[in-house]
Amino acid sequence: MQRFFLLLFDMKHSLIVGLGLAGLAYAEHLRRAGLSFCIIDGGKGGSSQIAAGIYNPTVLKRFSLSWNGDLFHSYALPFYEQLQSRLDSDFIHPAPIHKIFIKQSEHNDWVSASDQQGLKMFLDPKIHANANVEVNATLGHGQVDHTGRVATQTLLKSFRNSLQPEELTMETFEYDKLETTAFGIQYKQIKAEHIVFCEGYQMVNNPFFKMLPLIGLKGEILIIKAPTLKSESILKGPIFIAPIGDDLYWAGATFERNDKTLNCTSQGRSWVEERIRKMISSEYEVIEHITQIRPTVMDRRPLIGTHPDHQNIHLLNGFGARGVLGAPLLSKWLLDHIEGISELPTAVNLSRFESYFRQSD
Ligand SMILES: Cc1cc2nc3c(=O)[nH]c(=O)nc-3n(C[C@H](O)[C@H](O)[C@H](O)COP(=O)(O)OP(=O)(O)OC[C@H]3O[C@@H](n4cnc5c(N)ncnc54)[C@H](O)[C@@H]3O)c2cc1C
Repeated sequence: MQRFFLLLFDMKHSLIVGLGLAGLAYAEHLRRAGLSFCIIDGGKGGSSQIAAGIYNPTVLKRFSLSWNGDLFHSYALPFYEQLQSRLDSDFIHPAPIHKIFIKQSEHNDWVSASDQQGLKMFLDPKIHANANVEVNATLGHGQVDHTGRVATQTLLKSFRNSLQPEELTMETFEYDKLETTAFGIQYKQIKAEHIVFCEGYQMVNNPFFKMLPLIGLKGEILIIKAPTLKSESILKGPIFIAPIGDDLYWAGATFERNDKTLNCTSQGRSWVEERIRKMISSEYEVIEHITQIRPTVMDRRPLIGTHPDHQNIHLLNGFGARGVLGAPLLSKWLLDHIEGISELPTAVNLSRFESYFRQSD
């Protein structure tokens, strides 16, 4: 019935603004449900373009599970595997994480954490001796299993290439051209039942949602070439050093709260390099220095849901530093909410910040 209605009025189910991990996962769910969409993306790229793409449901500073880590992990991996096969691409790169120990006392903490419910599946209880002479790990390392990297640039490119020309428009969204209608929304020539904003940190410019507490954390990273390092594992010390092929490694990242520019700084580079030096003794060359802003939220939970005054305008944002594992299930939660199938968990529903919409009146 709904599809007939949409066809009759030449409407899409959803107009999606932003093609990062959020927009991609939401569009893929629509596609799997047989619902139509079109995407608008400004082409400037966001966090998803520079992320290491590490999927890791644990917090290695505290030897604990991240929020919903095991739930997100169990949903995300099959989601990406199915997508990888549909796109005939190669973007999932499983690899263990080696958490380098810096204190003897961490050995005991590691072993007891590895016996805990939820963590058992991921933390190998063994204390591993270091086998790579170029890694500085005299106290050995703990190994995290069922982890790896989703090569987000490859994923986004393959996904973009799979779209029909009418499904993707490359332009910056102009908010003043958006109209709400009796049946949904209209943006220039595009009619849709719903609009879903997936703009990452750029949400701060969106007049419908900019009052929400999206804080943003800038991350600067280096791509280095270290031909003698020969690590196939993701190394975790004060930063991550993750192999990305051809002797290249993703190294980072900084967490900067105040600077919201996309300028790469010499301080950022030195900060990352100091930590690289602590972790490895290999000679390396810096190939690239890049930065983006993580869409982090004041209470460290995603920002998802429907605008309190516009039932067809929705938000999918606030994935913070863990978009890879969260995006598949969080976007499914939003779609199920929009379709009236299930309610959004309170912890992610933007309605928890309802008063922020009134303060700006
Ligand atoms: C340095 C760094 C390292 C990271 N490492 C990891 C990691 O290893 N693992 C992990 O899980 N997460 C990681 N993250 C976090 C992850 O990148 C984010 O959680 C996730 O990518 C956010 O996706 P998004 O789609 O919400 O936003 P983005 O990726 O920022 O996408 C937003 C898109 O919207 C478009 N857009 C915005 N505004 C408009 C507009 N007005 N009109 C048209 N288009 C618009 C942009 O061009 C962009 O394509 C990292 C982030 C950073 C910065």
